[in-house]
Amino acid sequence: MSVIRTLPIAADAAGEKSIVHVPFLDLRNLNLRFSDEFADVLQRVLARGWFVHGEELTAFEKEFAAYCGVPHCIGVGNGLDALNLILRGYIELGRLAPGDEVILPANTFIATALAVSQAGLTPVLAEPEATTGNLDPRSVADAITQRTRALLPVHLYGRLANMAALRSLADTHGLLLIEDAAQAHGATLHGRHAGSFGDAAGFSFFPGKNLGALGDGGAVVTADTMLADCVASLRNYGSSRKYHHERRGVNSRLDELQAAFLRIKLRALAADVTERDALARLYCASIDNPYIDLPALPGEGETHAWHLFVVRSQQRDALQAHLRAAGIETLIHYPVPIHRQPAYAAEHWPALPMADAQAATVLSLPIYPGLAEPQRIIDACNTFCS
Ligand SMILES: *Cc1c(COP(=O)(O)O)cnc(C)c1O
Repeated sequence: MSVIRTLPIAADAAGEKSIVHVPFLDLRNLNLRFSDEFADVLQRVLARGWFVHGEELTAFEKEFAAYCGVPHCIGVGNGLDALNLILRGYIELGRLAPGDEVILPANTFIATALAVSQAGLTPVLAEPEATTGNLDPRSVADAITQRTRALLPVHLYGRLANMAALRSLADTHGLLLIEDAAQAHGATLHGRHAGSFGDAAGFSFFPGKNLGALGDGGAVVTADTMLADCVASLRNYGSSRKYHHERRGVNSRLDELQAAFLRIKLRALAADVTERDALARLYCASIDNPYIDLPALPGEGETHAWHLFVVRSQQRDALQAHLRAAGIETLIHYPVPIHRQPAYAAEHWPALPMADAQAATVLSLPIYPGLAEPQRIIDACNTFCS
């Protein structure tokens, strides 16, 4: 299973040539593990001749809701739609109104902010904590105004945000608490899964996520039956009865094939997270370099889903070049925080020095089930000197 791929020689900006021995992510081998089962479900779906909103979707929704430990799951087209439809759903239900403020971390993927903007709501950015990179409850408290109506923490890199502190802020101020769980499939705290802490949560099944489809996909999970019904209608043209439209909805579908593929991969998710955790612990025990700060291990009773293994270094760019020369592909999550994106340049943002500092220092090392030769990554990290 652990096939080492030697990718074609790539030249970087400086003209340096290097061979990728360890790709950042090996989607090919990750999915080839299931090729026989995928072939079977393709036949099953073809034989049925029913391609959207059918029994594979219903079965996946039931299984994923059970996995998360929540009563409702609604499959949608992608993770951005999942977050956007939660917010639109709460607008439909009168819990949010256009212009309301939603607090989210500045150091997230653009989708978290876009979901808010596209719903006609106002994104307000808060700082990450220095240690975990997750939304800092103190910064959230400072950002709350008379117009704040919801908190939208991200379980960044697969580590649960501080949901106890955020829940207490939400309850004190009468705010909705919505989880961006796009990176956190399989993260738990005292047996509770990501997606079960907020009023609702959005997941992505983009191929690179911990639970990834063979294309796009997403889901909303919630214990709120009114919201679940509303999102189910919104994703289907605002209709719960064919050709009768109670709302101005959208078309956002998790199709039968993707749902069927995800059902197969969901069964492997717990073992995959265990394998990610073993790799993370190996890195933390073995990478020893004063120029590299390792991520904090999860606390007591907590499972980190390790979607990404993110180190920090004041010499980040040199470290990335050193690893590239050793054939190790790395990525930066994320090089440009939301308040520095041209798409959000027109807003008046407060100073966000912690988010800026993290964007300048973070580096993601390869971490995925079946990763060959983690020792190669460890050795390359340990031989880095600035
Ligand atoms: C991937 C991701 C999304 C968006 O998911 P898509 O399926 O690509 O739309 C949202 N938020 C975060 C934090 C993500 O990592």
